[in-house]
Amino acid sequence: MKEAMYLFTLAIITVGCGVQPENVLLREWDTPFRTPPFDEIKSEHFMPAFLEAMEAEKAEVEAIANDEEGPTFKNTIEALEESGELLDRVSRVFGCLNGANTNDELQNISKEVAPLRAKHNDDINLNETLFARIEQLYEKKESLGLTPEQDTLLENYFLGFVRSGANLNDEDKDKLRKINEELSNLYVKFRQNHLKQTNAIGLVIDKDEDLAGLPDGVVQAAAEMAEARDMEGKWVFTLQKPSFIPFLMNSKKRELREIVFKAYVNRGNNNDEFDNKKLISRVAALRVRRANLLGYKTHADYVLERNMAENPENVYKFLNDLWKPALRRARMEVADMQAIIDKEGHDFRLQAWDWWYYAEKVKKEKYALDDAMLRPFFKMENVRNGVFNVAEKLYGIKFVKRNDIQVYHRDVEVFEVLEADGTHLGIFYSDYYPRSGKRSGAWSSSFRSQSNIEGNFIAPLVYNVGNFAKPTADKPSLMSIDEVETLFHELGHGLNSLFGNTIYSGSRRVPRDFVELPSQIMENWARDPAVLRTYALHYRTGTPIPQELIDKLENSKHFNQGFMTVEYLAASFLDMDWHALTDTSERDAAEFEKESMEKIGLISEIESRYQSTNFGHIFSSGGYSSGYYSYIWAAVLDADAFQAFKETDLFNKELAASFRKNVLSMGSNDTMAQYIKFRGFEPKVDALLKRRGLD
Ligand SMILES: [Zn+2]
Repeated sequence: MKEAMYLFTLAIITVGCGVQPENVLLREWDTPFRTPPFDEIKSEHFMPAFLEAMEAEKAEVEAIANDEEGPTFKNTIEALEESGELLDRVSRVFGCLNGANTNDELQNISKEVAPLRAKHNDDINLNETLFARIEQLYEKKESLGLTPEQDTLLENYFLGFVRSGANLNDEDKDKLRKINEELSNLYVKFRQNHLKQTNAIGLVIDKDEDLAGLPDGVVQAAAEMAEARDMEGKWVFTLQKPSFIPFLMNSKKRELREIVFKAYVNRGNNNDEFDNKKLISRVAALRVRRANLLGYKTHADYVLERNMAENPENVYKFLNDLWKPALRRARMEVADMQAIIDKEGHDFRLQAWDWWYYAEKVKKEKYALDDAMLRPFFKMENVRNGVFNVAEKLYGIKFVKRNDIQVYHRDVEVFEVLEADGTHLGIFYSDYYPRSGKRSGAWSSSFRSQSNIEGNFIAPLVYNVGNFAKPTADKPSLMSIDEVETLFHELGHGLNSLFGNTIYSGSRRVPRDFVELPSQIMENWARDPAVLRTYALHYRTGTPIPQELIDKLENSKHFNQGFMTVEYLAASFLDMDWHALTDTSERDAAEFEKESMEKIGLISEIESRYQSTNFGHIFSSGGYSSGYYSYIWAAVLDADAFQAFKETDLFNKELAASFRKNVLSMGSNDTMAQYIKFRGFEPKVDALLKRRGLD
């Protein structure tokens, strides 16, 4: 009822030329670079805007489908590409806020909108008249005189429709709609449970002695966290990474480490109202049913068809090839740590909650290095300048701070990105500190994609979100080396979006197992000694990181790589196992996970931080389902690609230009061919094994 009313009033508002709608989301934005006017955007604007924008897209699509003229590339494919602009704009702003700065109102809207969006998308994807036009064009595409990019775009539309069920009969279409709707509701619920549990308190300390081993900065941050939660005089650790990881690394209290670790891995698995076990079993079953409807044996077969890996067998083989060397190295790491435990006179075997603590000790003992030595050199602003400089040296681009662009939170900063010749390239927003309305992890996305239809150049608006060490009352944000790499990583995704250089944004479909190449390759520059000297400056004195620390970092580069690789591979196997299921019975999630880990022979000292009930990558949306392996797949590519720079010059401008043109800006469906244009040959796994010390 309420929705119908919205539609009615909004329909009236938008009629009448020149009259701007009252709802800021539906208006033309006259801000600099047409950036979102966050100062004016209120939560209550979203629901009516969504409804209006869906109506608008529906009308556009109907007009295309029912065009009396026969289908042409222009009146069908290009027209579709240009449709839905309003909905795209509203969804992207909403997606950003709901992920990085959410509140109850936004979460309710997301719950309300999800099934409507699922239906809306299905209405388009399952529109027979529309699909008939696309199919006609696809069948005679050779005779259409298309450019290679247009050919790619047409193929993307055709396959997109087929894979969304356009070829199904009416009865199956109905079944598919029901599945999509239910899945969309389950994803929302998963995300909300996940956020609730990540913000939960992992541990409250009220005695000084329980702080044993924790560095001052960690203690202070925990005291501030307690204050913010009205627990003055105590110390609070949440299950957000910057809070619990330093605790695990430093706390001398073994029993407290166990509490915090278990609280973290058990998110979504506490048999309470936020429990995800039933939910994910249902998601997995629905995914099998959908895959079957569409003619695939498993969800993994369905997803992988359009990835570089092509099918589940290839992924399993790839993971298995890495598993043995990684496990061998992890066992060596266990032995190193157990030796320290024994030497300290303890009589326990290393457990999962001890790993972070004793790994730190190994690092100190073997490499005379610890987290606290490095942090003063990684002030956030310096690190960010560091990655900007790398981008400038490689591609000639510049990041210029802008203070006239509206933001959604005071922690957000904005930069204009310029080409070497001063041409405007796009806008970049950074939002790096945790807050209770922000989901965990780090990500890159955009408010607008690049496109250039008929000479109308649209510049991208890109943002990076992270959860890095927060400034405290007397210290700026001092990051860990992992956080530094993550910041470089996300900017790599950002560059991929900023460098888009195609007519149609829809032609830049990047396979999931390729998309981490642009990001991960940046991490290589983050750790390079020559680059470190330029940005790792002491936050008080401004002196560059001493050679001695650089050497230590270099020497320790294989440190803990067995653990990192095993933990990651275990999660990738788990993801594949959930999505290689062929039957639709609903599993006991805990039991299923246990079996999956037993099958690969995961050692008991390692418990992956990515467990089914909190595995947001694969259960909070379709995103990385059957795709978690992508990070290491792309790591083969990034190690191989970086090798090209190492062999010549870290800032080889010619290579960088080729990387930008062939890899970052592309609009082609043959990703491997693009890669070979840059590198000269297919990637080899050697550089990755060497980098991780697994060779
Ligand atoms: Zn990434």
